[in-house]
Amino acid sequence: MSSLIDKKTTGTVFSIQKYSVHDGPGIRTIVFLKGCPLRCKWCSNPESQAFKPELAYNRNKCLGLDKCVRCTEVCAIGAITEGEDGKIDIDRELCAQCLDCAEACPAGALITYGEEMTVDAALKRVEEDEMFYARSGGGLTLSGGEPFQQPEFATALLREARHRHLDTAVETCGVTDYDEMKKALPFVNTLMFDIKSMNPEKHKAYTGMSNERPLENLKRIREDFPSLQVRVRTPIIPGFNDTEEDVHEIIDFLSGLPGDKVEFEILEYHRMGQPKYENTGREYPLPLDLKLDTAVFGGLKKIVEAFNE
Ligand code: SF4
Ligand code: SF4
Repeated sequence: MSSLIDKKTTGTVFSIQKYSVHDGPGIRTIVFLKGCPLRCKWCSNPESQAFKPELAYNRNKCLGLDKCVRCTEVCAIGAITEGEDGKIDIDRELCAQCLDCAEACPAGALITYGEEMTVDAALKRVEEDEMFYARSGGGLTLSGGEPFQQPEFATALLREARHRHLDTAVETCGVTDYDEMKKALPFVNTLMFDIKSMNPEKHKAYTGMSNERPLENLKRIREDFPSLQVRVRTPIIPGFNDTEEDVHEIIDFLSGLPGDKVEFEILEYHRMGQPKYENTGREYPLPLDLKLDTAVFGGLKKIVEAFNE
């Protein structure tokens, strides 16, 4: 094994997902790093947003207080009470996120999102599927959250992965310190970079921050790493960025970038992350009946395909 094995640098990982075919070339294992500076209203990983580990509760899995009282016994501050259905309720205002109840729960109804891991431990999980990467051209994808918000860990993971001959990809929202990102990019094979909208006010209204930083960062990446494979991705959200004008504005920006031409991809809005909002005590920020018109999305895809030709 490598002489660079890193058993010291640690980061907070909230999930490791195998057999992904949508997050970079080939079959990949995604290591999700916790913490994000944005609060996109359509975020499908709300459990990624906070930087610290956090408690989640899946009511469907709770055995009911007539069969099990373990969590109520360990919660020293009384944040767990009996709900109308005989299962538990959590007072999120009171909860101190000590996570003791997740340790105690025998049913997996209470779980912790976020685990401290070393680079070596994370990569050992990734390496379990090496045979799939060899056949498919896949490898490791770092995602989040915003992976570059844990810059030391992200860079160490990518460096060590490359040293172990793993292909590397990163999914970033681009809202991060450029100098930190720059240290990691020499170890990245494919960078997937979100551009959500060219309109700074709309961007702020739907994500909590303006788009200036990500746009500036992408320009600088293109200047400093003109040959890096970059795939720009835009989630298409009804009422936010689902017009032809929105997509053309992004294409105009991409066309003016220095370096090799970047690829562009649009992603269809979905609400699959909604149960995780409930499980982590959050409200889903968008109307529940919001739908993206399939024909509209199809039209936008044609514009994107023409750009990629
Ligand atoms: S995480 Fe919250 S609910 Fe669970 S034991 Fe700690 S304070 Fe109580
Ligand atoms: S420990 Fe788990 S299964 Fe038992 S009452 Fe609490 S949430 Fe339900």
